[in-house]
Amino acid sequence: MFVDRDGTINPDLRYLAEASRVEVFLGVAQGIRLLRSHGYRVLCTTNQSGIERGYYQHADVAAIHARVNEILAKGGARIDAFYYCPHAPESGCACRKPGTGMLEKAADDWNVDLAGSAIVGDRSLDVEAGEALGLLTVVVPPPGHERRVELELASREIQPDIRAAGFLEGALRVLTRG
Ligand SMILES: [Mg+2]
Ligand SMILES: [Zn+2]
Repeated sequence: MFVDRDGTINPDLRYLAEASRVEVFLGVAQGIRLLRSHGYRVLCTTNQSGIERGYYQHADVAAIHARVNEILAKGGARIDAFYYCPHAPESGCACRKPGTGMLEKAADDWNVDLAGSAIVGDRSLDVEAGEALGLLTVVVPPPGHERRVELELASREIQPDIRAAGFLEGALRVLTRG
């Protein structure tokens, strides 16, 4: 079970660098708890080109991920592992979404059955990466950004399997696969 980070777990603040600014959307802890109680590993896969661009360091990303899990712990949830691509788009790496390298590495590390798994994200690149691996694709727009998300999907002619109004609904629909 793959989840995007910025715009999915926490508000997308554009190159978030400080753990102290991390907030987690309503319903995320509950949704992750539910998924984990049904046996899913929750693996966060996130593009963090801010590293290669020099906006922040690996240690900042590690601190942010520790903070996300600290917040989730208050809701009885946790993300099992975080994977991130530190490269800029121009580098042409295989790990940056919509490339599949990062998800494949995570799937390998955690023995994920891709056909029975899913990706939850807020952008076409999450859907594209998921589609390429045969995952169930779920889009959850950040609150207040529903129209922007729809326009972005339409501009890339991308159709997710599921559109959910919030993370918890997305998690429930992953469990029912529809
Ligand atoms: Mg995102
Ligand atoms: Zn990369």
